[in-house]
Amino acid sequence: MVLEKESVKLLRQALDKLEAGFNLPEIHSDVDYSKMEKVLLEVAEKMQNNYPYFHPLFAGQMLKPPHPVARAAYMLAMWINPNNHAMDGSKASSPMEKEVVKDLAKMFGLKEHLGHLTGGGTMANLEGLWVAGQVHPDRLIVASDHSHYTHERVSAVLKLPFKKIKTDQFSRMDLVDLEEKLRQGNVGTVVCTMGTTGMGSVDPLVEILKLQQKYNFRIHADAAYGGYFGLLDNLEDETSEKYRSISQVDSIVIDPHKQGLQPYGCGCILFKDPSVAQYYLHDSPYTYFTSDDLHLGEISLECSRAGASAVGLWATHQLLPPIKGGKFSKDLSKSRNAALRLHDKLESSDNFFPLMKPETDIVVYAIKGQDTLSMSEKANQLFHKAEENHLYLSLYKYPTAMLENTEFEINSEYLTCLRSCLLKPEHDEWMEEIWKRLNESFALIEASN
Ligand SMILES: *Cc1c(COP(=O)(O)O)cnc(C)c1O
Repeated sequence: MVLEKESVKLLRQALDKLEAGFNLPEIHSDVDYSKMEKVLLEVAEKMQNNYPYFHPLFAGQMLKPPHPVARAAYMLAMWINPNNHAMDGSKASSPMEKEVVKDLAKMFGLKEHLGHLTGGGTMANLEGLWVAGQVHPDRLIVASDHSHYTHERVSAVLKLPFKKIKTDQFSRMDLVDLEEKLRQGNVGTVVCTMGTTGMGSVDPLVEILKLQQKYNFRIHADAAYGGYFGLLDNLEDETSEKYRSISQVDSIVIDPHKQGLQPYGCGCILFKDPSVAQYYLHDSPYTYFTSDDLHLGEISLECSRAGASAVGLWATHQLLPPIKGGKFSKDLSKSRNAALRLHDKLESSDNFFPLMKPETDIVVYAIKGQDTLSMSEKANQLFHKAEENHLYLSLYKYPTAMLENTEFEINSEYLTCLRSCLLKPEHDEWMEEIWKRLNESFALIEASN
């Protein structure tokens, strides 16, 4: 197998173009290249000890490689290393950040927005909940018990009271439990997960918006993982409707470093009401001198931020704009298609069954058996056997209390399942091979049991 290297030639060409823009006296490098070579080759050797996250046979955790254009643009920016805190440090890359943030706001249908890139989804959620706490001090933050654990932790950091809402068997927020909490009063913000990290399920935003009319609370959409799915045309109608409603929420988090083909270090927070900028007010004596334009550091909790992240995302948006019907959305719909195909195969399999029909592109499935303890044990064995067979899966612990009408005995608190995040468009093309290896691995553990 060979890695994509064509982009290295283009990077070289772009570097020549970059240097032509600086008409300055020569500087000489004192790098010891022969020592550097040794070190770099040692790094390459160490990096061989990774799972092949970039390969379609890696059908486990939520990992996908950046697009070559994102990688090359990010690296190109490294010769400058801009800091998108203040305009002085990022004359070119701060405007690029404003553009990409606007692209994302537009994708969500926001007419106005305030927002910026962040180090990732955690920081973006922290800002979303921080503003929520500024607007509704001392009122509760609620999120489903399948929401990302970051919400509970971040609420604790912000010293905001936090409560969990039950989920239904499809991993979506339970509306009965939500309304009960709303009736008890003091709920300031409902976190609506648009694509859970575990199973890719989307909370019932349409109904949550209806409840908002009655109970008056903020809605924070955590679309860190699932934010791009609104671009697809192969979702269930009900799911599409939830994504269409996202323009009505107060704040949105999306992680371009998850589905958006970016290197890690690229999250984004968006607010519908630009006047929340007032909460960020500060009086820095040294950062803002040369420009009257908005310094992104004035509306961000993080100070120094990688300008390169904005450059990588900007380049990606030029090549693959996040719009309906474009190549980016077509590739994403291949991921969804791969998930649907795996689901269909599991449905008619003698060895496996799916826990639910995937709402986005994550499939969770279990091994058929007599009781949950032995089924869990087999899932563990299969996980390891598949790895020997170069098929990389992940494990997922599903609470057995959520299982309904089972044909097997429940004798454990959790059922260990297998989980495949089919984020890479190539997963569609590779599905037969994935399925073949999955069943071969299963046959091997059956033979040894
Ligand atoms: C990944 C994820 C987060 C956390 O984001 P990081 O980028 O890992 O910091 C939060 N919420 C959801 C739904 C996620 O999938």
